[in-house]
Amino acid sequence: MNDAKRAAIFERLREANPAPTTELEHMTPFELLVAVVLSAQSTDKGVNKATAKLFPAANTPAAIAKLGVDGLTPYIASLGLFRNKAKAVVGLSEILMREHGGEVPRDRARLEALPGVGRKTANVILNTAFGEPVIAVDTHIFRVANRTGLAPGKDVVEVERKLDKTTPDAFKLNAHHWLILHGRYTCIARAPKCADCVILDLCEFRQKNLPNPKPVATTVRKIVPAPMSPTPRSKGRQPMAKTARAGAKRGRGR
Ligand code: SF4
Repeated sequence: MNDAKRAAIFERLREANPAPTTELEHMTPFELLVAVVLSAQSTDKGVNKATAKLFPAANTPAAIAKLGVDGLTPYIASLGLFRNKAKAVVGLSEILMREHGGEVPRDRARLEALPGVGRKTANVILNTAFGEPVIAVDTHIFRVANRTGLAPGKDVVEVERKLDKTTPDAFKLNAHHWLILHGRYTCIARAPKCADCVILDLCEFRQKNLPNPKPVATTVRKIVPAPMSPTPRSKGRQPMAKTARAGAKRGRGR
């Protein structure tokens, strides 16, 4: 994909949503960190429902560490993998207390050293909590980047590297949210809503999900052979036949 088309895609996405942000409700970097860790294999809606009860009761590393795994579990039991998530959230809270003065570090390596925090979560925190122009690639962004041709890649690391290299600076800060929201609501996995897509004419996906064009009405005209007109016997031979006969005569004359 060329640079002009790439920029046009982001311009369209910006036009449709000038100030995109995460759908995970949060007030502080720590709340966002907890919400992102809880969101693995869960919907944002489900996480918001859980944190709506959890955060009023405990929204700091100290308070979560004090709750402990047993105290935290009832708040998040509606989420998949809640036991592992409870251990991770309590574990990262204890590390933040012990090693980072109770603050979420603005540093990829330190973030990735926390339990339950991988590269994608670290990127989300750096981007959304601290305004760093990094692009976290999740399943939605992976799909959109490959389908559109923005950054085709065989795995999330390759897609992230390509997006980082090719996304114009003006769009880098919000690219993560534009692409994730586009993948979540329009370029969905099974049946992308191509007919409603604001980048339909720019997207390079070959199997766009568009309604079949209406069959063109065709009229099959019956060809009726013209009636044979009676041919006078004297004019019955074709000109070619005459020519051939003449040629034959000439050939015999040689
Ligand atoms: S045109 Fe279809 S495949 Fe392409 S980005 Fe839009 S929804 Fe996705």
